[in-house]
Order: sequence, then structure tokens, then C-alpha cells
Amino acid sequence: MTVLSNTEYARCREKIVEGLEQIGFVDDLKGKKVLLKPNLLSPRTADSSVTTNPEFLGAVASVFLQRGATVSVGDSPARASAASVARVSGIEKVCNELSIPLVEFDEPVQVLLEKGVYRRFEIARPVLEADIVVNLPKLKTHSLTLVTFGVKNLFGCVPGSKKQGWHFRARNMSDFSRMLVELASYINPSLTIMDGVEGMDGNGPANGRKIYPGVIAISRDVFALDDAVASICGIKHSRVPILRIARELGFVSSYETVGDKIERIDLVLPETNYIAVYGARLLRRFVTKFPAIDHKRCIKCGNCESACPAGAITLESMKIDYSKCITCYVCHELCPENAILFRRRLL
Ligand code: SF4
Ligand code: SF4
Repeated sequence: MTVLSNTEYARCREKIVEGLEQIGFVDDLKGKKVLLKPNLLSPRTADSSVTTNPEFLGAVASVFLQRGATVSVGDSPARASAASVARVSGIEKVCNELSIPLVEFDEPVQVLLEKGVYRRFEIARPVLEADIVVNLPKLKTHSLTLVTFGVKNLFGCVPGSKKQGWHFRARNMSDFSRMLVELASYINPSLTIMDGVEGMDGNGPANGRKIYPGVIAISRDVFALDDAVASICGIKHSRVPILRIARELGFVSSYETVGDKIERIDLVLPETNYIAVYGARLLRRFVTKFPAIDHKRCIKCGNCESACPAGAITLESMKIDYSKCITCYVCHELCPENAILFRRRLL
């Protein structure tokens, strides 16, 4: 795999071409159906650093188009259509300029893994029908999984209507992370190209602090990419369940990182990262942080209420029923106003 230094989106194309050469990705792409899977989390502008940057996506698309591939772009945002997120983020404009279609991941196809704890998944049809899936994550933190790199980005291959249930089937950070690792092992994208030119830390994936890591990471192996980027960020792998579980299950094979010399990226993990530190169940109930609505910031958009998989939020009374809350932090992830805070509560 390779990690390249790049602080300007305008230079992405040349760096991506350089990176693909470095990892020997010279595959014949003539007539191949290439699906680009960016992070289209929610309708935010490119400047907010919530979605994969449109210039970055355009650079990747143009490289594949030039090599003779048929390119499309798709994702499954949790509470919006891919089209609406693409419009606000600027990705729609790029797709129009390059004449590439944007596809909604709204048709689930059931697949069965040969082994694993979570073996039955519903995956969007375009993902299964593509010859080459190119995973385009953003370098960000995440309130539930602590980081959202390549592996987490592939959760978007599950159609939105099927996502909510996973928060019940895999209820805590470790179980949810294991599910993500097993899903990623099935999808096994041909390439992962991470947009780390700009990113987000703190209480990501949507309401954290914008950061400027200035890197692009490219690998054929999504697990190696996450593992290597975490190392650059100074993250202890045992502390982040996705990274730890990928290693434990043997998905991280030995890899070599080539490319530019990168200074360490100081990534501040979310406030919720105590769970990984204090893993014991008994302690967890004392240290778990619960969501709380900041009444001053809330605009009553309804995102949290309708997305909460536990039905724990009632906006009319502006209350959260903590006896129902499963601390999935979906409300925090989807709040457009950063109006979901984290509070410790003694149960
Ligand atoms: S998502 Fe945020 S702004 Fe919207 S209703 Fe919930 S707390 Fe308020
Ligand atoms: S209140 Fe928030 S954290 Fe709790 S279950 Fe609902 S969405 Fe998840």
C-alpha cells in the first residue's frame, strides 16, 4: 500500500496516478464496470469535511475513465437519498461534468458468508454487480466505532432501510465493529483510496473538528489501509475495535507501506472512546456516555427521532428515554446542528 502527502485537492489526480503505479495497479480496465463508493453520510457541503470531497472523487473517476472503464458512483446515506447528499456536497456536479451516473443503493440482495458471527447481510445490488469496487472513505473519527476509515465506509453498501436493524443485532461497539469487519471481508473492494487531504477528528463523523492531515492512502487491501493509517495517526490498534478485531481474525496480512514520508497525524478520538479503554462490562455502565439534546441548538428537524433505532427520542417533549437507549449514537451522527451532546449518567 502507499501513503502520499498531498494538501491540495487540485493535485489529487496526479498523486492518485502516482499512487496506483506505486502499488502496481495496472489492471486492464477496458469495458470493466467500476463502482466508486464515497462517504455520502449526510447532506453537508464539501467544506464541512463530512463527505468524500467532490474534487477527490472526480480525480479518481477521471483516472478510471481514461483507462477505459465504465464508472458509476453510489452510496446509501442513512436518512437521505444519495442524490440529495451528492447535490449539497458538490458530487452531483462532478458526476454531471464527467457524465457518470449516480446510483441509489436501494435494492438489497441477501448474501450469506461462509463463516463468521454475522453471516447474513443485505447488500446493494450495484455493489454485487460491479467488476471493481473502489472504496473512497474520508479520514474521520466516529462516535460509535471511534474511526471511520475504509472498513466502516463499506457499511454504506447496506441499503439504508436495512441499516437500523444492525444497531440491535450488534448492540455494542465491539459487536458492531465485528459485523463491519465481516461485512468488509465479504465486499473485499478491489481498491481503497482514502481522502485524507482534509478530515475530521473529535466527535465525528459529522460534528467533530475539521482537520488537515494532507494525505492520500491507497491499497488493494482495505484492512491493511486502515491498519497503516491508524499507525500514522498514533492510534493504538488494541484500543479501536475495528482494528483490533481485523487483526485478531487474521484479516490484516503483512504489508509494506511505500510512498512519501508522513509526519504523525494527531487525531483526537471522540469523547465516547472510554468504552474501549474500560472494556469490562461492570465498569461500562458507569462510564458510558449517553446522548442529550442541547435545546438551544436543536432546530427540531426530526432526524434523531426518526433515525433512532430504539424509538428512544420524543421531540415533542424533547426527551430521551434512557431505559430504551442502546447508545448507538446514530442521533449524534445525523444531527445537522451538533445538538446532541454526550453526558455521563449513573444508571
Ligand atoms: S437531529 Fe439535532 S437538530 Fe434535529 S431534532 Fe434532533 S437534536 Fe434537534
Ligand atoms: S437515543 Fe441516540 S444513542 Fe440512544 S438509541 Fe436512540 S439514536 Fe441511539
